[in-house]
Amino acid sequence: MPNCEAFQDILVQVARIRQPILFWPRSFNMPCKPPAFSDRESITSAKRNLLSFGITKVSIRQGRLEIMATAYLFAFCLVTSGFSQTTWEPTAPQSQAMELVGEEVIRSHIRFLADDLLEGRGPGSRGDELTQLYISTEFESLGLKPAGLDGGWLQPVPLRGITSIPPKQIELVGAGETMTLKSHDEVILVSGRKDSHVSLKGAELVFVGFGIQAPEFEWDDFKDLDVRGKILVVMNNDPEDDPELFAGKKRLYYGRWDYKYAMAAKLGAAGALIIHTDDSAGYPFQVIQTGWTGEEFELAQDEGSRTNLKGWLTDKAAHSVFQWAGLDLDKLRATASQREFKPVPLGVKLSVEFDAVVREQKSANVLAKLEGSDPVLKDQHVIFMAHHDHLGLAAGRDASGDNIYNGAIDNASGTATMLAIARAIANSKISPKRSILFAAVAAEEQGLLGSKHFATYPTIPPGKLAAVVNIDGINFLGRTHDVNLVGNGKNTLDALVQNVTTWQGRTLVPELNPERGYYYRSDQFSLAKIGVPGVYLHGGVNIVGKPSGWGKEQLDAWIDKVYHQPSDEFDPNWNLSGAIEDARLLMLVGLLIADQPDLPQWLPGDEFEAARKAAISAVE
Ligand SMILES: [Zn+2]
Repeated sequence: MPNCEAFQDILVQVARIRQPILFWPRSFNMPCKPPAFSDRESITSAKRNLLSFGITKVSIRQGRLEIMATAYLFAFCLVTSGFSQTTWEPTAPQSQAMELVGEEVIRSHIRFLADDLLEGRGPGSRGDELTQLYISTEFESLGLKPAGLDGGWLQPVPLRGITSIPPKQIELVGAGETMTLKSHDEVILVSGRKDSHVSLKGAELVFVGFGIQAPEFEWDDFKDLDVRGKILVVMNNDPEDDPELFAGKKRLYYGRWDYKYAMAAKLGAAGALIIHTDDSAGYPFQVIQTGWTGEEFELAQDEGSRTNLKGWLTDKAAHSVFQWAGLDLDKLRATASQREFKPVPLGVKLSVEFDAVVREQKSANVLAKLEGSDPVLKDQHVIFMAHHDHLGLAAGRDASGDNIYNGAIDNASGTATMLAIARAIANSKISPKRSILFAAVAAEEQGLLGSKHFATYPTIPPGKLAAVVNIDGINFLGRTHDVNLVGNGKNTLDALVQNVTTWQGRTLVPELNPERGYYYRSDQFSLAKIGVPGVYLHGGVNIVGKPSGWGKEQLDAWIDKVYHQPSDEFDPNWNLSGAIEDARLLMLVGLLIADQPDLPQWLPGDEFEAARKAAISAVE
């Protein structure tokens, strides 16, 4: 039994270091009174930290941190082992497989997939078909089995492409006066439906704060307001200040723009305009401009309810609209963080009419399989996933005359890494107990559509999908001291990632920008919705041999200048040494999942736990 002092020490350290620590899945009774913390900030950070790394129930009472009796107790482990780290080591076949993850493999696949000849791999394009053919050819050459429909490599993903042609000026009418906003520069409007004509007459604007209804937090931004036929003006986030609400700074699905539009549709609103800020989106308005103009895609079979109009306002335009309406947007934002918030009508109406070109399109997920070696466990699958699409061709040319969204990092690089992992496993002596599914999914940039289609029409029952290891973008800056685990503290996979990272001599760091909600922004989210736990990493930012802060500077500049722009091109000068380490890490995590006795689970109380339980009981 650890003594009180040691235990207190550890809690204090946990609060300070804010880094992941092994957790120990044992029941354990609190041996002593927990320590008192002097200020609220350190309590919250201690709590967040404990929650992140396996302690399942933590509460704060009178300035004291209380840990419930049946916690995953890593502290015990640390005390008894004198802070010694994990002793996990790869087996000889695992080491051999690791050696086979080659930099030249990743590099060459990116060079091909990001070539101008593939024209940005836009869904339904010739470049898309070439991409699918390339990936399935590589799968076949590795001796993998086709795992698509009808014994083929593909799972077709029927899409509907909608190109909205909004007017150049958008008119707002309030108190007899008119205000105009510039399309594209200040406001982006797109058709929310598959209709070829959008017509709204005098739809009232109403500010609904975060636009969230969440009974579990006793939160309802709409109160009883009937918003049918109205246009919601919404903030793009969830409340951040209170750690007890919406996971504090961490972004939940409630904070995502797709949730806002879905809520608007559910409540019968005519449309929703989301106020963009760099902070709440995690990227500049320019990314909205490129992503939300031109052809927009949706799943052709998706008949869910929708609004007439979807749109975005720049922060500046929103301020001027509110000011014109006699309202103070900043003050209203502050009130929106309170449970008592009530929607505020702007007294402003929007009328707009425009056409949209609607056409049926087709893309496909490319699926391959390596059969497991265990007669029972081989029915279950570990998925390595990466999206193969990007944004296609731009409507206009950028300053350098380029109009091809090559998507080299996003996500030729992730696809290349998945292919490199497939090659390493296929060429190694490894024979995983569970089967492995390699899934290059379509149309991620259009709203995770390929993975959403896979989740809606799974080729394997969700209860037999052990986990997904998703790759979206890789590190091109060199080896790192750290690894950034996105969506940490949600499921039992953290411990595996921790083991391998520690063995690599690197530090596992919890999600760096939890407020940006990256876990909900790539394909692991589609799988999470059907209960499948996922691993999703960002490469670290502390680059070996560079001053601290250098890596973050480079990445921030990349998001600003390259992300979702024609300049995301193959660069022979990338340093992929860190990407290789990450690829080996992800491969090993997948292999460990494939061999572990139990299926991975969400931690108790996680938002996806119920879906997992339902999926597993459906196949029992
Ligand atoms: Zn991506």
